[in-house]
Amino acid sequence: MPRTNIVFVMSDDHAAHAISAYGSRVNSTPHLDRIAQQGVRMDAVFCTNSICSPSRASILTGTYSHINGVSSIWTELDYRVPTFAEVLQRAGYRTAMFGKWHLGEHGQSLPRGFDTWKIFPGQGDYLDPDMVDPEGTRTMRGYATDIVTDLSLEWLDGLGADEPFCMLVHHKAPHRPWVPDEKHKHLYADGSIPEPDTFFDDNESRSKAVRGIRMTIADDMGADDLKQEIPEHLRGPQNREARMRWKYQIYMRDYLQCVQSIDDNVGRLLDRLQEKGLAENTLVVYTSDQGFFLGDHGWFDKRLMFDQSLQMPMLIKWPAAIPAGSRCDAIITNVDFAATFLDACGIEAATELPTSQGRSFLPLLRGEQVEEWPDAAYYRYWEHDDPIHAAPAHYGIRTADHKLIHYYGAGLGVPGASDRVFEPEWELYDLKADPAEMRNVADDPAYADVRADLEDKLEQYQRRYRDEPYQGPDTPRPDWGPYDQETLERVRRIFAR
Ligand code: CA
Repeated sequence: MPRTNIVFVMSDDHAAHAISAYGSRVNSTPHLDRIAQQGVRMDAVFCTNSICSPSRASILTGTYSHINGVSSIWTELDYRVPTFAEVLQRAGYRTAMFGKWHLGEHGQSLPRGFDTWKIFPGQGDYLDPDMVDPEGTRTMRGYATDIVTDLSLEWLDGLGADEPFCMLVHHKAPHRPWVPDEKHKHLYADGSIPEPDTFFDDNESRSKAVRGIRMTIADDMGADDLKQEIPEHLRGPQNREARMRWKYQIYMRDYLQCVQSIDDNVGRLLDRLQEKGLAENTLVVYTSDQGFFLGDHGWFDKRLMFDQSLQMPMLIKWPAAIPAGSRCDAIITNVDFAATFLDACGIEAATELPTSQGRSFLPLLRGEQVEEWPDAAYYRYWEHDDPIHAAPAHYGIRTADHKLIHYYGAGLGVPGASDRVFEPEWELYDLKADPAEMRNVADDPAYADVRADLEDKLEQYQRRYRDEPYQGPDTPRPDWGPYDQETLERVRRIFAR
């Protein structure tokens, strides 16, 4: 029997509510929808730290930030923690990685476990981007999303007929600053994009820490984001509402145009797999490293535990094993991906990737009962009061019915974290009664029992994942060093060329 191949497509900051398979009100993504129609739409996949680098490190290693070292965009991937790509390569798979890597802002973490790789330095550029490979850095001509797909198709075409492969196609789009391809600039006429129902949320019942974040479309989205100055008549507190509406149309137009390129290019990739006779036996995944606020609660960006940011879209097609048109609402996190990919290739994560904290969810897709499958997703955001968005450090859990969040009030010496201490605060949302998460009921006496149970569950999950709850300034800090000096030197030499 031929071995299963993996094509793992991931974009950056693509929220599920901008994919028509998830019922988007703002756009249509026919090629992404094809994956859902021919496979499964995952409805409760959550990231464990809603920001680029940490999510990527969790996916590769199957571990939380405190294990793999990537707690923020300023930290490096700990080379001692193995990745699923290394395991597959060792098992005889051909492996490749193209596009956004973003593990190590300063470039000290290079891809490992790949026969071929070519990545953007840091965030990368949309137009004529530089790309880095083992030979050094080179400027590529064209639009980033097309380039990453071209490299992927070329690599696929060069494979031998029976070689099993795993290819990571990691787009930088639709990350800020949302620069679309010229050919999509006619899409989404001004005023045509519906505003979310929660656009004018006053966030009144939320914690002070959340009310203080700088992620508002009204006041924090700037001229750089909009690629133009904010007109005089829209400035000032009296013009807040009109200014939000104006900015929203520009922001969403650019964002959705970037998404359009992804959809086109996923179509190209699916077509090529079909033409090559690889569709049946290849597991194709589409996901994004986390979600994004698309005007929800008046915000853009991510970081927080509200569903638009916490949820990762995940569409999977694998005709040999997954029935077409399936849905899965089991609670899954990005630390489960590594074990799942290995499982699909017939490799046991427990023995081959023993550091993984996740579990394969493939049995769930086959409709099997899995004992003690987690009934909550544990989350921890480490960057405290970061210099751009001022988002507070926090942890919490999301179950099918509730979400409990603790803004514990301080950073833990994480690079990029501020030492500013806030008053610790809690939020609790009843997701069944209030799916839009508009009303924090943490201090509502009617929810006292629910909150007590959730606090117990939160502690239980922290123990399960061996994460230390914050107990004050004396809480022990994770030991993340030292790194392998020889590897660091090799990486620095490649980036210096
Ligand atoms: Ca991201």
